[in-house]
Amino acid sequence: MKTISISDFEPIDKKFPAMRFLRLEERLCCTRYLIVDEKQKKTMMIDAGDGKDQLDFVPDAVFLTHGHFDHASGVKPDWPEVWIHPQEDAALRFMNVPKNAKPLLGQQFDFGGFHFNLLHTPGHTPGSMCLFEEKSGFLFSGDTKFAGGSYGRTDLGHADAEERMKESLQLLEQVDWKLLCPGHGEMEYADGRMI
Ligand SMILES: [Zn+2]
Repeated sequence: MKTISISDFEPIDKKFPAMRFLRLEERLCCTRYLIVDEKQKKTMMIDAGDGKDQLDFVPDAVFLTHGHFDHASGVKPDWPEVWIHPQEDAALRFMNVPKNAKPLLGQQFDFGGFHFNLLHTPGHTPGSMCLFEEKSGFLFSGDTKFAGGSYGRTDLGHADAEERMKESLQLLEQVDWKLLCPGHGEMEYADGRMI
């Protein structure tokens, strides 16, 4: 099994070198985002990947944008702090909610000088969430919103998924993001540039 180190994560944008990403093209695995606090020697991760590789470090805090296998299967049982939205439904198709994932409490999280707003954005799944970081303007959108204006599947959730997705996308319209960082595919700046 391939082993992944902190140095395998590339900076997303040179203005914020602590914010990094790892995107794999060769298989269905989500993009993983890592925030590195060099001073405290701590890391925060957004989504954990499909479990077909392993990290050589233990992230100090992990946020799952939702419970699908390609985002959540990489969580290891000994990871100390793994959060998922309490409305996620582990019984749905393609779910692999880790046993040690705890229901997210609160709507904000500070890490490494960054301030994350945790937004509940149901639709793709009932417990989907996005994280908006205020200083950088990065919006980590999971499988809710993708670059180029598309959005996640709504046939995998509850019966009202399409309606909830519309509401969630409207909520994200209110967010003044500078860079969209989705769970798959390219990232997109507010001016339309893709990376
Ligand atoms: Zn998904």
